[in-house]
Amino acid sequence: MKIHEYQGKELLKRYGVAVPRGFACFSVDEAVKAAEALGGPVWVVKAQIHAGGRGKGGGVKLARSVDEVRQRAGEILGMQLITHQTSPQGQKVRRLLVEEGADIKKELYIGLVVDRVTQRVTMMASSEGGMDIEEVAEHTPEKIHKVAVDPVVGLTDADADSLSRKIGIPEASLAQSRPILKGLYQAFWDTDASLAEINPLILTGDGRVIALDAKLNFDSNALFRHPELVALRDLDEEDPAEIEASRFDLAYIQLDGNIGCLVNGAGLAMATMDTIKLFGGEPANFLDVGGGATTDKVTEAFKIMLRNPELKAILVNIFGGIMKCDTIAEGVIAASKAVGLKVPLVVRMKGTNEDLGKKMLAESGLPIISADTMAEAAQKVVAAAAAA
Ligand code: ADP
Ligand code: MG
Repeated sequence: MKIHEYQGKELLKRYGVAVPRGFACFSVDEAVKAAEALGGPVWVVKAQIHAGGRGKGGGVKLARSVDEVRQRAGEILGMQLITHQTSPQGQKVRRLLVEEGADIKKELYIGLVVDRVTQRVTMMASSEGGMDIEEVAEHTPEKIHKVAVDPVVGLTDADADSLSRKIGIPEASLAQSRPILKGLYQAFWDTDASLAEINPLILTGDGRVIALDAKLNFDSNALFRHPELVALRDLDEEDPAEIEASRFDLAYIQLDGNIGCLVNGAGLAMATMDTIKLFGGEPANFLDVGGGATTDKVTEAFKIMLRNPELKAILVNIFGGIMKCDTIAEGVIAASKAVGLKVPLVVRMKGTNEDLGKKMLAESGLPIISADTMAEAAQKVVAAAAAA
């Protein structure tokens, strides 16, 4: 789960991370009031969407008067902000952060992820922060310094200071960067975050260290123990089909193609998408109905796939293990009838009660195309989508 920058800054502030003073605003009037409350001489008006790259996309603007704040806020609120992290259509801006403008001397980077190789939370830091950190990682990876944090000890003062020195924070400012690095680590740990980034972390002209941006992603499997984080969720920023799917406990991710996939098991779902691509098709979604799919769940899964206007055909690929093929056949038949299925449907099932399941599909009177192997199923669905 993602949150907005202003929410991330509020959270990090409680962990002792220095952030600029600022207010979240939902209208131009609120932005003007925020600017007046902050006082000048320089303000920054920042689009709040769940994607980075806002600066380059025109979603972060400097203002040197309250009038200019009003003007910038009016331009940014409601715009479709396109960045390299949004869809090509962009994301509508519904919230702003108006904060005090900082005197930037140098832009640095710090971030945290879980490194699966070392099985540790790893802090990354670079002197080359700002809007091009992806380029730094790609072309000059030696400029990114790392520390794998011992989970028992946490990020030590020595770790923090050593990283700070490597990214060019002067000795006199170490006392300021130390609580920021340690606070970011502690926040990451306490919230079960999967990603935490401050980019840029800045050095100001007068030697202060401040977090100018804040990005936090949380592990959704741990949200049950963080109601205070769930309260920060902004459904406007999430895909409606994915929200619907999460209500039915379906793992669904919308993609750009036109072949819907309904599969049990994440591994088989990945393999199914690969096979579709191998035969020249493009999956419209990833969908894992899980091990305990009921008729109701399969029906909901069909409904969610069919919301996608691009959908041209559906491939159901089921391995009947704990879940029996006849149960799935029943679900597919009921769902096809319930939703009045108009697109071609290819079904491949293997495993427990396979013969019974296939017989039920054949006798259902529905125009279901059956297939035996994955390759055959993929070829048939790609052909069906191309003909539709
Ligand atoms: P994004 O990462 O989405 O582009 P940032 O919050 O990092 O958004 O802002 C982009 C750039 O805008 C920063 O790298 C920094 O140069 C500038 N900026 C952001 N906030 C401020 C601020 N409060 N004062 C001065 N400059 C800022
Ligand atoms: Mg940034």
